[in-house]
Amino acid sequence: MKKQSLLMIPGPIAFDRDVLAEMGAPTRSHVAPDFIEEFGQAIERMRKVFKSPDGQPFIVAGSGTLAMDLAGANLVEAGDRVLVVNTGYFGDRFGKLLERYGAVVEHVKAEVGSRPSLQAIEEKIIKFKPVMMTVTHVDTSTGVITDAKGIAALARKHDVIMILDGVCSVAGEEIDMVGDGIDLVLTASQKAVGVPPGLALLVAGPRAMAKFNNRKSPVPNFYADWANWLPIMQAYENRKGAYFGTPAVNLVSALNVSLKQILEEGLDERMQRHVIISQSCKKALTALGLKQVPVSTEFAAHTMSAPYYPDPARSGELLKIMKEEGVVTAGGLHAQIKDLYFRIGHMGFVDIGDVLKTIAALETALYKTGYNFEPGTGVAAALKEYLMD
Ligand code: PMP
Repeated sequence: MKKQSLLMIPGPIAFDRDVLAEMGAPTRSHVAPDFIEEFGQAIERMRKVFKSPDGQPFIVAGSGTLAMDLAGANLVEAGDRVLVVNTGYFGDRFGKLLERYGAVVEHVKAEVGSRPSLQAIEEKIIKFKPVMMTVTHVDTSTGVITDAKGIAALARKHDVIMILDGVCSVAGEEIDMVGDGIDLVLTASQKAVGVPPGLALLVAGPRAMAKFNNRKSPVPNFYADWANWLPIMQAYENRKGAYFGTPAVNLVSALNVSLKQILEEGLDERMQRHVIISQSCKKALTALGLKQVPVSTEFAAHTMSAPYYPDPARSGELLKIMKEEGVVTAGGLHAQIKDLYFRIGHMGFVDIGDVLKTIAALETALYKTGYNFEPGTGVAAALKEYLMD
């Protein structure tokens, strides 16, 4: 019998059994009363998970890039100046997307593995005078986490609307939309939210909704237009069926189950679990002598790790052997260092057992590719960190 591989990439992740059960359940009408109830609950639960009691959730069939598109299409008007706080591949993507809607875009960047300082961001805000800024919370290409709270404080100080790309962070890293003053947070279902790929999720706060409501030009994208989706979200929340585009019925039910689980675990407890799991993984990598892309612990995300290969010449073999050992990890994504590093996702319902299995597979691969180390070093470091935290 072939065992199921352990999926440890930064999305999609391994999913909970109760969530997956919804995917295999008979599909109901999108206006069936019990489905309307679940959709309504999911909308209400999104507000809690995003900590945005006054925000407007949108649940739309599509991937995370659609969530970025929903933000861009509805909030950008031609000529708007938008600053992209760029820590990698997904910052580049946001810049291109915003330009498509006529934004004048500038980026504030740092070296790969680093992040722009708050001072550099503020200087750029003062010089460029953007009306809006986008921030990638965790850039999945580098594993770098930005200081969303600190940047939001700058956004408030300079009256800039702040969009947070939380695709690799929502439900895995701390986010407090209202507390921090973030205007829009977007994500996708397949990462720490814990639902198979296929849902674009976002919550727009009052300032984002006001920018949308004050538009002078129509939204130049039919599917993404909030004018089409807002009445649908409001109807389902008021427990009424409505139609614009057929909702992804099974995915919405799965989302409702996963959001319930997230709230039952408790947001603080969940974040703390991600911190411990991440530290265990990162301590193991360090103990094995593997450097990581984020240049400091402070810059390193808790939802993933991005270690450099000890020997890039044998990189292909390393991930292949890990896969044979039953653990799937991801190769590099950032163009500048693509062949030099790999990525381990550890988010959602991940536990220490998953980390130990991943590190054991990594050690096996390192051993078989002739790396000089004491077998067990990484596993011991991960467990020690977990037990003694
Ligand atoms: N932003 C970030 C930070 C991501 O990690 C991803 C996906 N890896 C996206 C946006 C795009 O999401 P999707 O692949 O679901 O379109």
